[in-house]
Formats: sequence, C-alpha cells, structure tokens
Amino acid sequence: MLLFNTQKELVSHLNSVSNETTSIGFVPTMGALHAGHLSLLEESMKHNAINVISIFVNPTQFNNAEDLAKYPKTLESDIAKIKTLSDSIIVFAPSIDDIYEGKTVASPFNFDGLEHQMEGKFRPGHFDGVGTIVKRLFEIVKPNNAYFGEKDFQQLQIVKKLVEKNKIPVIVVGCPIYREPNGLAMSSRNERLTDEERKKAAIIYQTITEARKMFATKSAKEITDFVNKVFDKSTDFELEYFQIADETTLLPCLRKSKTKKYRAFIAVFVNKIRLIDTISLN
Ligand code: AMP
Repeated sequence: MLLFNTQKELVSHLNSVSNETTSIGFVPTMGALHAGHLSLLEESMKHNAINVISIFVNPTQFNNAEDLAKYPKTLESDIAKIKTLSDSIIVFAPSIDDIYEGKTVASPFNFDGLEHQMEGKFRPGHFDGVGTIVKRLFEIVKPNNAYFGEKDFQQLQIVKKLVEKNKIPVIVVGCPIYREPNGLAMSSRNERLTDEERKKAAIIYQTITEARKMFATKSAKEITDFVNKVFDKSTDFELEYFQIADETTLLPCLRKSKTKKYRAFIAVFVNKIRLIDTISLN
C-alpha cells in the first residue's frame, strides 16, 4: 500500500507507473471505511491495473458545522482495512490546503435540476461541494473508471451528469448498497450511533422495503402517507423526507408510468445524526 498526502506526489507517482494502456480505477471516499467502501475497491480491482482510493473529508459539501466537526476520522484503521485487500492499492489522503490551496469554497454547478431534489433541497450547497471535489479529484487522479455507491444514488446521478457536461473521460460505475445484518445501510455516520440506536435504525430499511411491496398496488401518495405515519409514531426517529422519484430525472412520481424506473429515497434523523437510504421500486 502506498500513501500520498499531496497531489504533487500522487501525480508524480501515477505518471511513473501508468501509460496510455494502464487502466486506473478510482474510489473517492471520506474515510471511516466500512464493507461498503471496500466493495467499491474490490470492484475497481477486478477491472483496473492501478487502484486509487482517496480519503478526504470535504468541508465544502457540509452544510452543517456539527456534522463536519463530528465526522469520524480513522485514517490508521482505514489503512489497515485497505491492506487486507491488497498491498498495491494507492491511498490519497490530502490536507484541505493541498486540495483547496487556501480558498476553501465550492464552485457553482448546474446539474440540469438533479441538484434541486431531495438532498439538494435539505442540504443547501451540498452538491456544489460534491461537484467541486469530484471534479478536482478526477483532474488529479485522471481515472479511467470511478466507482460510486448507489447508497448515495442522487450523488451517483449527479457525478454522471458532471462527467457528461464537462466531457470528462471517465466511466462512472454505480455499485450496490452494503447493509448491516439488520438491513441498516452501512454508513460512516453509523459509528456515531449507540448500539441501541443502530438496532432500532433497522426501521429505515424495513419501511422502504414495505414501500417497495406496496408500489405494485398503491400510489406514490398512499405510500408516502404510510411512511409518514410510521415515523410519526416513532419517538426515536424523525423523518426529514421520503420521496418516490423517477430514477433518471429524480423528479417526484406523481402518476406511475409503466415505462419509467422509480426509486424511494429517505432521510431520517436519529439523535441529530442524519441517515439516508434508497431502494429501487420496479
Ligand atoms: P462516503 O465516504 O460516505 O463519501 O462514501 C464514499 C463512497 O462509498 C460513495 O460513493 C458512497 O456512495 C459509497 N458508499 C457509502 N456507503 C455505502 C454502502 N453502504 N454500500 C455501498 N457503497 C457505499
């Protein structure tokens, strides 16, 4: 395993080991790695000769100072986990200054409206931060393939749009969601939950799984009412949003169309910790 803390050192190393025919696979993360992150790396390793993972808690995508301050930082154990996969993986863990060069601000992006739905509504500026860091990292690493989780499905669609609009020569690959045995989607933020909260958080996956069952016979409104009721009854969990949306446009589903693919998206707070999940409905 090779660790680089500056883009200069990383680029110089990549230039020395790659040529036009070596494929570079890239997995951007914010660290506190779990099996979901590692599954992206494994997918990358199947298809690329050189594999890079970045670990960088990107300040410009946080709209909440407490969320940023409390985001888990576990570089040593992250590196130990990466080593269990292979010794040849390249880790890029830059400082904020190395990436932002003194100007820690996001650039504005237009993602054709994808940025105005769900996470974009509830986390103002979030996708400008995501667009800024992903574009920057793509410019540094110049990957052939980049791997993103469907857990952040809106982000995945936005990164695909970023690549398309900026004509960046990278293939963006979506990877399935890894879950805890009780169904809770793995997330770095789960580390902040108590054991009790982690157990109870199974309600999120249970509810969206029920929503998927209902989707065969019920309208989006009926399903949304059902989900609202579930969380109204809960004393531990507060629903921020539940939305059934078209997978491509991310616009809310008002009337179901047989030709469209739909997905349910959910964001829930437990004790100020924000958890998101998503499931394909048809
Ligand atoms: P993060 O470190 O949370 O920014 O996530 C880095 C990448 O890992 C993103 O592409 C996420 O979508 C992906 N990821 C996060 N959680 C999971 C999960 N449970 N299963 C699969 N991929 C995930």
